[in-house]
Amino acid sequence: MNVIGAVTATVITGFAVYRWWTGDLFGALINLLIIIMVFAALWLGKRRRFQPLALNLFGVTISVACLLSSLLVSSNGLLWAFLVLWVNALILSRRWALGLNALIILVLTSSLSLYQSLLHQVSWTTVALLMTGFGLMFTDQLREQRRLLARQARIDPLTGVGNRRLMQEHLEDITAERRRDRRVSTLLVLDLDMFKEVNDRHGHEVGDEVLAAFADSVAAALRTDDGLYRMGGEEFVVLLRGMDLTTARRELPDLHTRLSGRVSTPDGPVQFSAGAAVLREGEDWSRWLARADQALYAAKSDGRNCLVFSEP
Ligand code: GH3
Ligand code: MG
Ligand code: MG
Repeated sequence: MNVIGAVTATVITGFAVYRWWTGDLFGALINLLIIIMVFAALWLGKRRRFQPLALNLFGVTISVACLLSSLLVSSNGLLWAFLVLWVNALILSRRWALGLNALIILVLTSSLSLYQSLLHQVSWTTVALLMTGFGLMFTDQLREQRRLLARQARIDPLTGVGNRRLMQEHLEDITAERRRDRRVSTLLVLDLDMFKEVNDRHGHEVGDEVLAAFADSVAAALRTDDGLYRMGGEEFVVLLRGMDLTTARRELPDLHTRLSGRVSTPDGPVQFSAGAAVLREGEDWSRWLARADQALYAAKSDGRNCLVFSEP
């Protein structure tokens, strides 16, 4: 919107000066009004909170501007209207784009004096409808692709579970919620035991298969609300939303026993060590994760294939 707004304001300023120069004060005044509205929308758009409002204001401004210039100034406005229909479809929400474009097409189609012939009128309306339709299809595809990219950027390609970025986002949300509603949650950091040997003996490809199968087995054991992320290498993080210390102490050792060794290589089961930490009051996500990681380290030192809890 910033680029389109700045270009629009510059172009209209040119027209305003020309109109004022040629004595068309009324036309120049309308142009001035449009420039002010465009700048108001640009100014509003600087604040994140008002961005949707700014876009709508901008859409309304350019729509009204093209109607006024078509109806009051000259039928050249019909050409500008194409540009406005296209910009509306590109930058506004579907509902606003449809609403404003329908208004423009209805008003301009029914203003008979703008057209030299019936063919001219029908042609203008057809192109206007097609531009709106194609514009909306185009933005739908763009939005879908953007959604897909945003999803892919948060998924680990090997295992299909969340990656570090998604984990950080979720942990930040959880720690912020904790400050509001005091609900505790538990973090579990898992690391496969002696995984290097799997790679060394069977090759990297088998290692990859074991990682994917391990992630599947953990995901299948979790509740739908929980989160599973691959931190990197053969280390995973489980976010157990709403799990307090009592429940964690009761359920997690059993979960570890059930899952460790479930995935196998020709040499035998692949086990894992785990560290658990229950979120403390006022703790930030990196400190929380570091405590779970320290507990994991202790589990490795204790001889592996076990679960250690961090001090609550
Ligand atoms: P420990 O019980 O102390 O955790 O021993 P470990 O062998 O699992 O630990 P270490 O950190 O020494 O080795 C981790 C290995 O994980 C090293 C690396 O070859 C392997 N690894 C890391 N990422 C991948 C991956 O994406 N695919 C495969 N196949 N192996 C990986
Ligand atoms: Mg390991
Ligand atoms: Mg490791």
